[in-house]
Amino acid sequence: MILKPEWANARRLKPWTIGVICVTHLLALAAPFSFTWTGLAMFVVMYWITGALGITLCYHRLLTHRSYKTPKFVEYALTFFACSALQGGPISWVAAHRLHHKESDQEKDPHTPAEGFLWSHILWNFFNIPQFERYEEFRHMARDLDRDPVHRFYEAMFFPIWLGIAVAMFGIGFAFGGWKLGLSLVVWGCFLRTISVWHSTWLVNSATHLWGYRRYLTADNSRNNWWVALVTFGEGWHNNHHADQRSAAHGHKWYEVDMTYWTINVMKWVGLARDVVTPKSKRISKDAADEEASTLVA
Ligand SMILES: [Zn+2]
Ligand SMILES: [Zn+2]
Repeated sequence: MILKPEWANARRLKPWTIGVICVTHLLALAAPFSFTWTGLAMFVVMYWITGALGITLCYHRLLTHRSYKTPKFVEYALTFFACSALQGGPISWVAAHRLHHKESDQEKDPHTPAEGFLWSHILWNFFNIPQFERYEEFRHMARDLDRDPVHRFYEAMFFPIWLGIAVAMFGIGFAFGGWKLGLSLVVWGCFLRTISVWHSTWLVNSATHLWGYRRYLTADNSRNNWWVALVTFGEGWHNNHHADQRSAAHGHKWYEVDMTYWTINVMKWVGLARDVVTPKSKRISKDAADEEASTLVA
């Protein structure tokens, strides 16, 4: 049974969003007929650039939770990658995700599975969230980004950016291999890749609030789920994340593989990330150690 919250009525439907999601899924159906090895390679590279670097590393861990600091030019480049995932601009994405943390699995959570799996996975995208109907209403949830003209530009331009990527995919393929390669790159590198990153991100909203183990007794129903972690570069350790939202590491044990945290460490190593927030357990033990040290000095 498909459930949905009371506020999700016909008046709140987003016809443009519904149209874009449906048309992109239909276009992705051309994948078996346009397969090339170059197209598959482009799919993998673009999945990583837009899903791992864009959504996970940038929208989630950098812009929403400020789990690490990076120079502005890196932040803006990563935001470009995130816009190319076609999941909305930085201000609306961050505002919706902060609302999810504030109201997790409660009535105002935009995508709780308490309203049904399909609701939390995809259907919530089809409706205007009551608090987010107008820009003026949701921007206060991401005021830090709203103050930045570059992020306001991205907020307005994410769809043309995605369209530009689609055109570029076709153009590159056409230039090097004619129609066949042009179609292969646009279908595999853009349409199929876009719906794949959508569904992997949506699994964090649906599956990791339904299936998996709970390390921490959080007030919500978040779970740690290894197969979601695998396709989302570490986002599946969602119960850990709800328990310690600021930590840059979502995997809290050695077997909880978190590729995004590896990326942050590489960035730190080459001087592109600093003030990386460590898990609370380590923060607490470090504070305790500092306190002990100051006591000893005193
Ligand atoms: Zn959650
Ligand atoms: Zn989060």
